[in-house]
Order: sequence, then structure tokens, then C-alpha cells
Amino acid sequence: MKVGFIGLGAMGLPMAKRIVGAGHKLHTTFHRLREPADELRAMGAEVVPTPMDVAKEADVVITILPADAELKEVVFGPSGILKTFAAGKVLVEMTTGTALAMQEIAAAIRSVGGEVLDAPVSGGTPAAAQGTLTIMAGGDTPVLERCRPLLGIMGTRIVHVGPVGQGKVVKIVNQMMAAIHLLAIGESFALGVRSGADPRVLYEVIKNSSGYSKMMDLRLPGFLFEGSFQPGFKLDLMKKDVNLALESARAVGIPLHLSSEVAQVFAAASAAGKGNEDFSAAAQFLAGLSEVQLNSAKGKSV
Ligand code: NAD
Repeated sequence: MKVGFIGLGAMGLPMAKRIVGAGHKLHTTFHRLREPADELRAMGAEVVPTPMDVAKEADVVITILPADAELKEVVFGPSGILKTFAAGKVLVEMTTGTALAMQEIAAAIRSVGGEVLDAPVSGGTPAAAQGTLTIMAGGDTPVLERCRPLLGIMGTRIVHVGPVGQGKVVKIVNQMMAAIHLLAIGESFALGVRSGADPRVLYEVIKNSSGYSKMMDLRLPGFLFEGSFQPGFKLDLMKKDVNLALESARAVGIPLHLSSEVAQVFAAASAAGKGNEDFSAAAQFLAGLSEVQLNSAKGKSV
């Protein structure tokens, strides 16, 4: 199967490497930085000038881009994939974006005879490298089954969640919860540390108590405990995801109280220059408003 891959970022590059490593002929393109495409070329991939050229060569085109705007550029832009998309080709769209944009793209791809699978992911960069992502697949069963062997190179949990657009919905719900859990840790640990608790002791106790969330395992060791915020998942991408949740809630007419507050914290952390750090920096930013360091070595106590 000839595979096209567009979006060679923190997630896309390791995913694309796995596809080349599994023996597929891969066509890709570059955007701003050439290095990720060059790395793939060294592994045997073919690098072409534009997304349009990728879609011309490939049977299946995978996209994983920052958000709706970049995705629309890659699909509808002057060198977009729609120019060369044709019957028999499939778009596997893995960006975290809105259901609305996904449905608009699906309609355009179908109008030229192509098929679409909405397939956002969770698991982060380690799972992207190991091929253990969770993939939330929205689309028709025959399209999913056709793509399943390819998805299996990137993910171990492939869940059919409904029609095109539902993948994006499930992913946004996950992102809301992840952002809320992260800031719950930031705020609660700030109180604990400020009151004299050792954050590692808090983790040890709460990981077996009702306040536990998986976010503690994912972002206390390696990030908040070390005061080290190499992404990982960039803070500005999480800010984008929380805003996607607010946008989606406006579209269906429901309020999101906690997510609205969380969005403000992410906006403030981003405005303070932390947008390219790992998103866990938002928890330290929140604790920092009370002059608390969640890194135990620097923990400030009363
Ligand atoms: P990233 O910013 O590292 O990578 C995005 C890539 O898209 C970059 O290489 C950029 O150059 C490329 N790009 C942007 N516009 C382009 C264009 N017009 N043409 C071609 N390439 C273009 O982001 P990421 O962390 O890889 O995340 C990608 C998506 O996956 C986002 O929607 C994110 O929310 C989601 N996601 C990320 C993680 C994570 O842990 N990083 C986990 C799950 C889901």
C-alpha cells in the first residue's frame, strides 16, 4: 500500500517512521523544517514538494496537523490534497480538531469519489514511537476495516466510535478531562505544598485514593517533580483543545463552567511565554500564582 503522510511534528514523525519501518512505500512533504522529511528520506521515503503531490502518489493519505486551520490549508489550499484526490483513495485524518471541519472535509473528499476516516489519537509521543496509540475511529465500517492493518502499525486500541466527526467529539471530551485533571493537580498540590506537604508523599498517598487521576502518573514524574517542561504535548496545543471544547459547546448550546476557567489558565500561561513548553507547565503556572513550586526540592512550606 502506498501511504502519504502530512504533518511531521512531535506525533507525525514517529508515526511515519513506524509506517516506513513496517515496509510501506511512504510519500511525504515538508513544511518550514526540512529535517523531519530528510530523516524519513534516509529511511527510504520519497519527499515531494506539496500535499497535492503526496495525494497524487498515495492510496491512503494520513494527516496529523496542529488544528482545523492547517488541516483546511492542506486539504483546500492551492497545493492541497483535494486537487489530486480521486476515487479509491482514502484520507485518514488524525488531527485533534472539530467535528464540523471534519465533516466539511469529508463532504469535499467524497465529492471527488474518495473515502474518509476520522481518526484522532491519544497516548502522546511515547505511544506514537511505540505504536501503542489509542485511535478513535469515526467512519464507515468498510473504510475502517480497509485501514485497520495500517492503523495497527500506529495503535493498539482502535475503537470504532461512530460516523465521521465522532472521533473528533470523543477526542475533545478526553482533552477537556485531561486539562481539568492537570489543573486540579496544580491547584490541589499548591495548597498541600504551601501547607507543608511533600508533593511526592501527596502522590504516593493519592495514587491509591479517590483523588487519583492517570494525569498524576503522566505528568508528576518527569515533568512537575523535576520542574522540566520539554514537550511532550505543547501547552498551546492543549490551549487549542480546551478552546475546541468551548467552541463545540457553543455549537450545541451548553455551558462548560470548569473548561471556561481552565481555558483562562492556559491562556495566561501561554501569554506568559509558556506556549511551546509541555502542557504540564500550566499546572506549575497555576501553583506559581501562589509562589508554590511543585518540584519537591524547591517546595515552599509555611
Ligand atoms: P506539532 O506542532 O509538533 O506538529 C504539527 C506539524 O504539522 C508540524 O511539523 C508542522 O510543520 C506541520 N504543519 C503545519 N502546517 C502544515 C502545512 N500547512 N502543511 C504541512 N505540514 C504542516 O504537533 P503534534 O504534537 O505533532 O500534534 C499534532 C496533532 O496531534 C494536534 O492536533 C495535537 O493536538 C494532536 N495530538 C498531539 C499529542 C501529543 O502528545 N503531542 C497527542 C495526541 C494528539
